[in-house]
Amino acid sequence: MSMKRFVIIGNGPAANHAAKALRENSSESRITIFSKDPFRSYRAHLLPDFIAGLIKEEDLYNSSYAHYNEMDINLRLGQRVVSVDFSKRNVILDHKEVVPFDGLIVATGGKPRLPEQFQLFQDIMLTLKTPLDARMWVEKLSNVDSVLIIGGDLTSLSLTKALLKLHKRVKFILNDDAFWPVPLNEEIYRAVTGRLEQRGVEIVHCRRIRRITQLEENLLEVETDREILETGVLGAFFGLVPDVGFLARTGLDIDRGILVDEFLKTRFANVYAAGDCAQVYHPALRDYWVSIGHENATALGRIAALNLAGSHFEVQVKPESILEVGGVKINTSWWTEF
Ligand SMILES: Cc1cc2nc3c(=O)[nH]c(=O)nc-3n(C[C@H](O)[C@H](O)[C@H](O)COP(=O)(O)OP(=O)(O)OC[C@H]3O[C@@H](n4cnc5c(N)ncnc54)[C@H](O)[C@@H]3O)c2cc1C
Repeated sequence: MSMKRFVIIGNGPAANHAAKALRENSSESRITIFSKDPFRSYRAHLLPDFIAGLIKEEDLYNSSYAHYNEMDINLRLGQRVVSVDFSKRNVILDHKEVVPFDGLIVATGGKPRLPEQFQLFQDIMLTLKTPLDARMWVEKLSNVDSVLIIGGDLTSLSLTKALLKLHKRVKFILNDDAFWPVPLNEEIYRAVTGRLEQRGVEIVHCRRIRRITQLEENLLEVETDREILETGVLGAFFGLVPDVGFLARTGLDIDRGILVDEFLKTRFANVYAAGDCAQVYHPALRDYWVSIGHENATALGRIAALNLAGSHFEVQVKPESILEVGGVKINTSWWTEF
């Protein structure tokens, strides 16, 4: 039999655990990882520590380039997949290269979500997903003392901890859809704002943002329905949304993420999805759950790879660990202490 060509889209925890499991179970195959990011895989939960100056940028990264060579994995960084042709079984890169595959794992994770009302301001709002974003925070924070966070997801809570360590003045607008897809209710609002206030964060209670104006390079004015605020930098934190838009026209089933069965298989033969980009069927619940968090990603990445290599492992998640909030089923392994 000829050498199998396995392609993995993504270079996060799901992709890397998938690549490792594929190599261990398919020594003769050719494995290629494509990542749109130009840097090696990193530990996202350490980004706030890097911003706080507690660790060096190099400490964010997981494996050396030599590690991929040793595992005979072809790591292609800075190469965005723009589409997949499932009938011809190839992926198409943004520089038009077409790469054939026998088996594919999609592990494209999530990207920061920006609600429509803020999309106009995306160039003046900072988010936090990659080391590149973290570098932007470091640069900005060297020139400003005050930060206004709009939203309020788990990432923003970790970042706020870092900002307080840097003795920045932090104001917080906890927005209605901060914890999307989990709706913000009165109880969560009170718990989160109470904790933030204890730590010295000023909560801005308002229903609506009317206007954002950049007055100077390091000075923004934000008008709410209650007051006008000034800040040096503005952060937008509305959760992560599966980064699967580029697959919308390919015939894959997509709801909040890529719909896969309990074996992480998509509707196409030898095509799997894992990690934050996947929405996984649960036979007992007869419904799909959204995956969130690092540990989930590593476990799903491994299962997808083992099944692609010929096994038949089912994702085991106890129904009671799946939360249902506002009609969305979520299984999260994300830990955050604040
Ligand atoms: C600041 C921050 C702090 C966090 N803290 C925690 C924490 O404390 N605990 C926890 O459990 N989780 C935490 N998370 C979440 C955790 O990092 C994610 O759940 C996890 O990384 C998901 O892994 P993944 O492999 O599914 O996707 P990701 O890690 O998002 O990786 C996706 C990969 O896909 C690539 N990609 C996307 N689209 C394309 C494309 N079209 N072509 C090529 N490549 C593509 C990206 O470049 C990236 O390499 C944090 C996240 C952030 C941003």
